[in-house]
Amino acid sequence: MNHRAHDYRHLVERWRAVARKAGVPLRRLAHADGYDLFSLRTPALAEAGGIYVSAGIHGDEPAATEGLITWAEAQGRWLAKLPLLLLPCLNPWGLVKNTRANAQGLDLNRLFQEGNQPMVQAVRRLAAGRQFSVGLMLHEDYDGQGIYLYEVLRARPYWGEALLNAARAHVPIDPRPRIDGRKLGGGLYRRRIDRRHFAQIGYPEAIWLHLEHAGRTFTFETPSEFALEQRVAAHVAVLEEVVRRVVG
Ligand SMILES: [Zn+2]
Repeated sequence: MNHRAHDYRHLVERWRAVARKAGVPLRRLAHADGYDLFSLRTPALAEAGGIYVSAGIHGDEPAATEGLITWAEAQGRWLAKLPLLLLPCLNPWGLVKNTRANAQGLDLNRLFQEGNQPMVQAVRRLAAGRQFSVGLMLHEDYDGQGIYLYEVLRARPYWGEALLNAARAHVPIDPRPRIDGRKLGGGLYRRRIDRRHFAQIGYPEAIWLHLEHAGRTFTFETPSEFALEQRVAAHVAVLEEVVRRVVG
């Protein structure tokens, strides 16, 4: 029996309520694997600046989608005043089935170099001509032993420590010295983009966004074996900190 966090219909109802309350349209983004995908763009978002947030590209990471809606619900009418492009759930089929991939078994987070996948195509269209201050990708890790963060190297001063500090009250920082073969310091992995590497494995959303549309790019991970409420609170804390830093 899956938790309510895997109930996509319920999630969409909550987003409709958020959109209604804020007076912002919830737009149909694409149709994929039998589900409608949605986006929400606030009137405060200009062509330059603002925050891009996505969740649920991996379906077995429910605290990401749950964290984003929980944060959005708490904003009420204020949401419309924030410069945002929100992508509430990029892989509804995966969320419902509690699986990482989509219905074709593809990891959607390795396909952002291609223009032929319907969701990727739609997201790329939405972002066209825009330059965000921050791109934030919300994820979970089933091997995770705490929270950690990828920060792509570019703008200084770096924000990674501050974002982790905001979230560590809810979930401790992952103590592992290496994750997926990469060295981690205090839950933080700062990387330069190795284009050859990504040409081989396929482009994640964060890399595409960083190269084409965002000044700062973060991928935040919570450990999916921890209690859902704690993980959701950690995602909410990171969102709050990013908004505070962009909007003041
Ligand atoms: Zn993920």
